[in-house]
Amino acid sequence: DKRVECITKKIASYPDFPKPGIVFKDIFSVLADPPVFKDLMVIFEERIRAICPDVEIIVGLESRGFLLGTPLALALGVPFVPVRKKGKLPGELKQVSYKLEYGTDVFEAQANSVKPGQKVVIVDDLLATGGTMKAACDLVTSLGGAVAVCFVCIELVDLKGREQLTKPCDAIVKF
Ligand code: 5GP
Repeated sequence: DKRVECITKKIASYPDFPKPGIVFKDIFSVLADPPVFKDLMVIFEERIRAICPDVEIIVGLESRGFLLGTPLALALGVPFVPVRKKGKLPGELKQVSYKLEYGTDVFEAQANSVKPGQKVVIVDDLLATGGTMKAACDLVTSLGGAVAVCFVCIELVDLKGREQLTKPCDAIVKF
């Protein structure tokens, strides 16, 4: 797919960011190029329509998952629901804590944002070790949602994040 080639070329790599030894993949260079960004969103939409035609909710993960998840929800005509880091969402919440390299973090979602049994697609920019996506799957499941598939723009294949997940996962670009 020529579009995937263009997206792959657009993704910038930053060695030793945010710390030595990590090569950070930056999707903002894709968002800064309207035709390539458009192709990315069209591919996301095509794949979701193919894999999960009856999707009912797009869940986006803070923060780059919001940038991909909101236009996708609009294009599909389904609600967008955010999963955020602790302390940023108002109202009654559900929480899940998950392990980071050092310590733990907490994800939150609004308690009634997903209705029991609703078919959910979770969107983020990148799958690395898989801890973030696994936590999001657990949170959506605890809300009563049925996670149909996880979608990312980029998968860092060597980190084997996919092995952490009990749900199917699709990635547009694999490094
Ligand atoms: P994981 O939990 O799979 O190890 O890390 C994935 C999460 O960390 C995602 O929410 C993603 O936004 C962020 N992340 C980790 N590494 C990178 C990277 O190289 N580039 C970008 N854009 N995000 C990263």
